Amino acid sequence: MKCSCCGEQHDESSLTALRCHPAVQVCRGCIDWLVEASGSMDVTPTLPVLDMDVAVEFYEAAGFEVHRYEGGGFAFVSFDERSVFDLGVEPVAAGAGAYLVVPDPDGWHDRLEGKGLLVSDLADQEWGMREFTLTDPFGNRLRFGRSL
Ligand SMILES: [Zn+2]
Repeated sequence: MKCSCCGEQHDESSLTALRCHPAVQVCRGCIDWLVEASGSMDVTPTLPVLDMDVAVEFYEAAGFEVHRYEGGGFAFVSFDERSVFDLGVEPVAAGAGAYLVVPDPDGWHDRLEGKGLLVSDLADQEWGMREFTLTDPFGNRLRFGRSL
């Protein structure tokens, strides 16, 4: 299908219809441009890790793409070519966290659990999210969820 903004061909799954004009379908690249152009703040947390080799192995096993920065003390973590969070080697890992809003927390939970990674039970929470937590080897907690 064709993006209504840039005109490039994309898989249907990577196009999103506008809320009030569903015939208008926009690709992720154009959505990213629009978010930036609208002045929205874009935040990328940095999770502290003690050992980058261990961290890269863990996050690649969890299905992310990890791009190490030259020098090795920093890495960019992305999913489906979109930045999600960064990793930084620190002398102390204090158990930071990040919340990942995903369209299919059930699918993520099944995949991560299937790889033997430490995940909590998936549950509908009273604060209106269906979510679970993945804990990395350094105590960082990634919560995956979506609105109920
Ligand atoms: Zn586009």
